[in-house]
Amino acid sequence: MADKQNIKRIVIVGGGTAGWLAACHLAKKLEPFKDSTISITLVDSPDIPTIGVGEGTVPVMKDTLRYFGISEAEFVQKCDVSFKQSIKFVDWEVAPNKGQSSFYHHIFDFPKLTPVDVTPYWLLDKTLGQTHFADLVSVQSHACALGVGPKRPNDKEYTGIFNYAYHLDAGKFTQLLSQHAIENLGVKNVKANVVDVHTNKQNFISHLTTDLPSTLTADIFVDCTGFKALLIEQALGGEFLSKKEVLLTDTAFAIQVPYDHPEQTIPPFTISTAQENGWIWDIGLQSRRGVGYVFSSKHQSDDDALQTLSDYLKRPLTYSDVRKIKMKVGYQKRAWVNNCVAMGLSQGFVEPLEATGLLMFDVTARVFANMLPAHTENMALSAKRFNQDICQMWESTCDFIKLHYYLSKRDDSEFWKDNRNSASLSDELKEKLEVWKYKIPSQFDFRYTIDSFRLDNFLYVLYGMNFPTNLSHEASKYTDVDKLNKLKYEIDQGVLFCKKHLQPHRTLLEHICRHG
Ligand code: FAD
Repeated sequence: MADKQNIKRIVIVGGGTAGWLAACHLAKKLEPFKDSTISITLVDSPDIPTIGVGEGTVPVMKDTLRYFGISEAEFVQKCDVSFKQSIKFVDWEVAPNKGQSSFYHHIFDFPKLTPVDVTPYWLLDKTLGQTHFADLVSVQSHACALGVGPKRPNDKEYTGIFNYAYHLDAGKFTQLLSQHAIENLGVKNVKANVVDVHTNKQNFISHLTTDLPSTLTADIFVDCTGFKALLIEQALGGEFLSKKEVLLTDTAFAIQVPYDHPEQTIPPFTISTAQENGWIWDIGLQSRRGVGYVFSSKHQSDDDALQTLSDYLKRPLTYSDVRKIKMKVGYQKRAWVNNCVAMGLSQGFVEPLEATGLLMFDVTARVFANMLPAHTENMALSAKRFNQDICQMWESTCDFIKLHYYLSKRDDSEFWKDNRNSASLSDELKEKLEVWKYKIPSQFDFRYTIDSFRLDNFLYVLYGMNFPTNLSHEASKYTDVDKLNKLKYEIDQGVLFCKKHLQPHRTLLEHICRHG
């Protein structure tokens, strides 16, 4: 592989969300229609199903769909989409028998920190402290509580009054992406089972054999085969870095739940309700709910876990009602090995608490498409830089997920106590939390631009869970009540605007489905 050789063929193995996202990103970047010297082929098995879950997204998805050239109206119409403005965390801070606790994390809607940053006032003033942090710094939690959509019916595609993401049907989304990739972006699709991965002496993949007579050769192979990581791990011996000692959940029971009646309210946010041994996601799509219980099999048996989900849904359940998914938690130490790059579940996975799956694969596919060298000579260098970035992204994502558990005061089970074992905290997170005991986080605490979660996300979660930053040493600086009242007035005006101009979430979705 030392010879300089142009990259002409890319083969992607796996047709789940990750495979088709990677295909669209590569095709957009390389535009094979215009430059016919590079071809992109996606091979997927007609027999092995996709994982079929992954209903929550983050706002990056808006930019991605727009970049791919997919209309938002078509996406909403075809993928059972609803708008996601936030995640509502219920019972995370304390167990339900110790009082009611809930907070919103408005993914990437920046807390309103001007004209005055209300955070120190909120921390210092016990009266203000009774109001939820998110309610003081953003209109969006009020919009969520009102159950309205994030945009007006005639707002332009992909724009709204508030930033937003989507909830979607994973199967339908994969279908939309594949159709777009094939029909509009020139990606070729082969339906076949890959039965063997052949490597050369340098441990580069030379070709794949399938259950069809022909073989598949390429300069670069993209492994999107899901948790099995057929190419990167099984064929090339890639090393998986497990995070199961840090993030303790390892199993999910997923179920689709019909609405009680067709007009039922659709919450414009994901609901995440903590349980004794894990947490339950509850996502409202247009036609149904998607619900799943994520738990630690070390702390709870399957029978008990099924009972937990059944109690939440207030209906009896048997194993045939749910899909059991074993989760492989962690990431590949090197997501790019020789001429193979892993994307999707084959690259890594952490529990879907902050909908990081599609986010990670979307971002890494875009980064990869941009780092793709023109010829094989620079492949090792690109791989090295890519791997450093991806590892950093996974590490910081693990830290952010862990933060939710570590800040919890729940002590109603060993699961929560084990989660607060400080040995399972990274040095980076430990240091940050130590510093933030006496200082509000600032943008300078976040050193890597590639990290997915930054100041705004941390503020919502830290203070949503009442992290006790002690500012008593500088209390005299925060006495400007007029500025504070001005901010509160602006929030009140924002709430009035929502009431006047924003429609109930379901009404907005019906409008888009009917009129585009
Ligand atoms: P898969 O969907 O497993 O696809 C694998 C593909 O490889 C299939 O097409 C299969 O046919 C093919 N394949 C396998 N072997 C072969 C072979 N030998 N030959 C040919 N083809 C082969 N993400 C989010 O963003 N938000 C969420 O809310 C969220 N919730 C989740 C909840 C759970 C419980 C889990 C486990 C994941 C969740 N995710 C979520 C992650 C999300 O499901 C995945 O990121 C996403 O679906 C991508 O999966 P994938 O394409 O990597 O793998």
